[in-house]
Amino acid sequence: MLQKCEGIVIRTTDYGETNKIVTIYTREWGKIGVMARGAKKPNSRLSSISQLFTYGYFLVQRGTGLGSMQQGEIITSMRSITEDLFLTAYASYIVELTDKCTEEKKPNPFHFELLYQTLNYMNEGFDPDVLMNIYEMKMLNVLGLYPTLNQCSVCGNTDGHFSFSIREGGFICHRCIGKDPYHFKITPATVKLLRLFYYMDLSRLGNISVKDQTKAELKQVISAYYDEYSGLHLKTKKFLDSMDKFRHML
Ligand SMILES: [Zn+2]
Repeated sequence: MLQKCEGIVIRTTDYGETNKIVTIYTREWGKIGVMARGAKKPNSRLSSISQLFTYGYFLVQRGTGLGSMQQGEIITSMRSITEDLFLTAYASYIVELTDKCTEEKKPNPFHFELLYQTLNYMNEGFDPDVLMNIYEMKMLNVLGLYPTLNQCSVCGNTDGHFSFSIREGGFICHRCIGKDPYHFKITPATVKLLRLFYYMDLSRLGNISVKDQTKAELKQVISAYYDEYSGLHLKTKKFLDSMDKFRHML
């Protein structure tokens, strides 16, 4: 059965001399894998539509097993991302995280919209660190994780000076700080942004400017939380981290 879908290419794997297996996150069906025959040949009509990060419409022959891509129409190839080494690294992490957090054929139009907006904002020049952190915070629920960000995770107080406790799974107030000697000390700006990123609607993102110190704290807390609870070990994240170190040397 030939069907049309709207989607974003989140992974491609070479298959044989000329074919590719393309993983697409679609609005209609969630994640699907399709064979793109001949896509590795530069003159193939499937070669540009099957590039990583491409957002478009795909005509797919679906059956019980792996479907096959018949044709496609590019809406955007995210050129600003693909032409920039740093942005490519960020976007690669976003799509790998998406791939690892989702199962095939489980539609989630909300998640599709989030993925599209994240890559689109990145392509338009919004701060990739901020976008990455928002996406990470929003993926937590998809991973079955619910950090406590609206109150102290120990006593439930909503006022006070907050730190972040990996062990308690969220904010910890100054009264309870003794419960976790390994808490992260964070500034009020970081508290506010962790909350905002978790709860905000991404389509309402304005031009947020975040100080370097706040960025460093956000990264430290979110990475530590992922390391402890997500069970994920993504090679694109390792690459991003090493690139980050390298960039600070420049
Ligand atoms: Zn407390």
